[in-house]
Amino acid sequence: AKEYKIAVIGSTGVGKSSLCMQFTRNRFEEAYEPTIEDYYRKQVTFEGEQIIFDIIDTAGEEGNLTNLNGLIRQAVGYLLVYDITRRQSYSEAKEFRDRVLYVKNAISVPMVLVGNKADMEEKREISFEEATKDAADWSCSFFEVSAKTKTNLESAFAECAKSIKRS
Ligand code: GDP
Ligand code: MG
Repeated sequence: AKEYKIAVIGSTGVGKSSLCMQFTRNRFEEAYEPTIEDYYRKQVTFEGEQIIFDIIDTAGEEGNLTNLNGLIRQAVGYLLVYDITRRQSYSEAKEFRDRVLYVKNAISVPMVLVGNKADMEEKREISFEEATKDAADWSCSFFEVSAKTKTNLESAFAECAKSIKRS
């Protein structure tokens, strides 16, 4: 099966590890455990073919940035994650996007903007419209997801595979 190497990037606490865990192992944990870096794999049928997602769960600013650049370089697609209840994580997502483009020396890469914690509507700080607009400016797809309820999780990963395949 073809392998799609995807890096999950974004600020500390946005739910990167939770997304990886829920997508590949159908598990969700409320407790927070800081990540340094971790790898997940999952085989799925995509457009009639077997593919393997080879997922790199990165550390945000808790990690070392030289190392992060190395992980970004290895990947061919990106899930750019922010937390819909935390404005700062959205501003930082823009910085992570710039970092990816810089490291890959590209003006565009296969990337999906992912607003996580969509189950926490009452605490929302970033509107769906704002992120939709920015994603359009960046020519990337956008999904609001929840690692807790699994909402849109498979769609976000599938969309990333799609942009890699078309790139
Ligand atoms: P990371 O630092 O980006 O890897 O974030 P984690 O995956 O460790 O998640 C940070 C915290 O947010 C943990 O306490 C998770 O249980 C919680 N969390 C992650 N995703 C969701 C979600 O979709 N909904 C809710 N309500 N909490 C979440
Ligand atoms: Mg983590």
